[in-house]
Amino acid sequence: MPRDFLQGAKDEYDVIVIGSGLAGLTTANILGRAGYSVLLLEQHYKLGGMATWFKRPGGHIFDVSLHGFPAGMIKSCRRYWTPEIADSIVQLKNIRFDNPMFSLTTTFNREDFTRLLVEQFHVLPENIKAFFDTARGMNFYDDQQMTTRELFEKYFPGREDVIRLLMEPITYANGSTLEDPAITYGIVFSNFMAKGVFTFEGGTDRLIELMQQDLLHSGVDVRIRCDATKILVEGNRIKGVVVNGRTIRARAVVSNANLKSTVFRLVGEEHFDRKFIDDANAVRLNNSSTQVYMAMQPEEHVDESTGDLLFSSTAPVFRTDLLLSRDITSRTFSFYYPRTRPNGRPRCLIVSSTNARYEDWANLSEEEYEASKRELVETTIDAGEKYIPNLRQRLAHAEAATPRTFQHYTQHAQGASFGTKFEGLAVSRALPEQVRGLYHAGSVGIIMSGWLGAINYGVIVANDVDAQLMKSPAPNVASQTAALES
Ligand SMILES: Cc1cc2nc3c(=O)[nH]c(=O)nc-3n(C[C@H](O)[C@H](O)[C@H](O)COP(=O)(O)OP(=O)(O)OC[C@H]3O[C@@H](n4cnc5c(N)ncnc54)[C@H](O)[C@@H]3O)c2cc1C
Repeated sequence: MPRDFLQGAKDEYDVIVIGSGLAGLTTANILGRAGYSVLLLEQHYKLGGMATWFKRPGGHIFDVSLHGFPAGMIKSCRRYWTPEIADSIVQLKNIRFDNPMFSLTTTFNREDFTRLLVEQFHVLPENIKAFFDTARGMNFYDDQQMTTRELFEKYFPGREDVIRLLMEPITYANGSTLEDPAITYGIVFSNFMAKGVFTFEGGTDRLIELMQQDLLHSGVDVRIRCDATKILVEGNRIKGVVVNGRTIRARAVVSNANLKSTVFRLVGEEHFDRKFIDDANAVRLNNSSTQVYMAMQPEEHVDESTGDLLFSSTAPVFRTDLLLSRDITSRTFSFYYPRTRPNGRPRCLIVSSTNARYEDWANLSEEEYEASKRELVETTIDAGEKYIPNLRQRLAHAEAATPRTFQHYTQHAQGASFGTKFEGLAVSRALPEQVRGLYHAGSVGIIMSGWLGAINYGVIVANDVDAQLMKSPAPNVASQTAALES
């Protein structure tokens, strides 16, 4: 008989969270701590969503999305997770750029960028200050008409090199383009510029393990290999979820699955009004990625001066479409030294990431697909040899992931790495107005993407759910309150 991954689960919870990405995990933890009964469902065999890792023989552990996040993670993790998690967040100090326009190393914060822009790019200090102040002052309620390109043109007209320095890393960080609203750039860029780029010491496996322990401590019922196939709605209220063939009732459901899959597959168009469905249809997914994972032989080491993050490109100028092209000219190399996992085996690993389009990979035959992956691995090693001599001979292992891989493991439509474009945020926020008790928390709208964005969005949605459940307490809570008052 197949194993029952829902064995012992109750028939009803206050809240069901579908998906254990960083947003889903955070929402579940906060609501569990607040005393609600919470069921967390994950279709994969491990928690974390895109915040994931995998192991290969020889003691190699690859991180998929642990390349860098802003310092804000420390505060969010201390407040909504544990001091141990917050205290494991450390800075990456060697961020490198190497392209035909410039080569430099930076700590990637406002002070160092100001120095570089003055000394190396000869920009006037007052323009730099005005630009930083404008970017930092941006918020969601600002004018959303200005594009990132217009923002750059205002402060650095005609300076393709400056635009490249300021934009290339953010395009990698969240897939945003020069045509997206400037606030999506301003908020994410300023988050990084506050203090630089950070990582999690111990690796993604340790982070998710610590989060799992805290979830259990918060009383969350955590279930893996549980694929939610339907969110049930009655009238305009949430009723529950169908998972592994079983119906479980809930007063609120938070979907951490892809926004479009939530609306069209899990709930169904018939439960929303026409305008909402039109808006949801118009939401564009963000791009996906390819990655090449390379492990050095155990005795081979990479000199730390190679950098922690290296934005490398052979393209003469910065263009978003070049970053997405199958003909790869730009790669972000992440270097993982033995200090990434101080308690693990001393290993040096390299992960090369490139933004990619799902459609370039979706319709390849199995043979073409395997051949394309091999080519991706080989051309990436060629590119890496510029920074690590004889890389090919010194590697113990190399393999590739594509948009198809990301879709396979997370069920994200088109393997979108960062959820949706900007318009997804309004649709995500409008869900509870359409169906009472239905919420979405997860990478969306560029701003709410990435590790920090996903965690912070999880916090926002947990507060919304709490407010709704407080307004309409469960019958037993209501009767207890009445008893106390009488
Ligand atoms: C290659 C790559 C590199 C990245 N690099 C960085 C980086 O350096 N820094 C950074 O900050 N961010 C990075 N990101 C982005 C970051 O990882 C994501 O934005 C973030 O982890 C997404 O979290 P989320 O909460 O939206 O959920 P997701 O990670 O998307 O997880 C959703 C979860 O829901 C589950 N699920 C879906 N449908 C169902 C269902 N029906 N039933 C049950 N479970 C379901 C999935 O299995 C998955 O576990 C990267 C992403 C990729 C792909």
